[in-house]
Amino acid sequence: MRFAIFSDTHSNLEALEAVLADACGRKCTHFVCLGDIVGYNANPHECVERIRELDCPVVKGNHDEQASLSLSTSDFNELAERAIQWTRDHLTEEDKQWLRELPLQKNVRDFTIVHATLDTPAQWGYVFNNLDAAASFTYQHTTACFFGHTHVPMVFIRDEGVRRERTDHIRIEPTKKYMINMGSVGQPRDGNWRAAYCIYDIENNLVEQLRVKYDLAGAQQKIIKAGLPRLLAERLALGR
Ligand code: ZN
Repeated sequence: MRFAIFSDTHSNLEALEAVLADACGRKCTHFVCLGDIVGYNANPHECVERIRELDCPVVKGNHDEQASLSLSTSDFNELAERAIQWTRDHLTEEDKQWLRELPLQKNVRDFTIVHATLDTPAQWGYVFNNLDAAASFTYQHTTACFFGHTHVPMVFIRDEGVRRERTDHIRIEPTKKYMINMGSVGQPRDGNWRAAYCIYDIENNLVEQLRVKYDLAGAQQKIIKAGLPRLLAERLALGR
């Protein structure tokens, strides 16, 4: 059983389609979405529709939450806030209701999924270092947890202590615990513009981090045409 696990699509339909096609080419049979389906880019409705069609496990991200409310309740930076307001106007009521009803965390087979952290999933904290990871590990009852939110691929491992490992191939050992961030589909922030996702091969206990090229220029043109801030198009090329 091969799971394609992806996060932070952020309304980037070009990147989403490229990831789904790549995953199918690599014989993935199941999909899992870690939230932030909308926000920043120009195809919120289309991305919601495409992910709903997959009929797969999905958890809610902070942008999904804000876009599905009629007024913002959390402090986004100006760029994110402008995009969220635009996104609200380009989602149907049905899209918003579906986003609103998504769970914050979920168990899938033998692993856990969450957008932000397991210790306080509704407060949208970030796991960037060993200390952040240690807090989340306390609430992790499965060997592996997949999370998003930071848009930066990262792996934390807990055995005697908690450490971060830089690797694209992770072998899951049942005596340890793992927190795996596969980066972002629609707005990577690790200096690499390519869409990120991972494949979890359950029988072989292997997780592989992957990057996929997509129609970047097409996605950028849509952002500009939509009247969204130009910076949102420019940052896609930088992976920032
Ligand atoms: Zn995000």
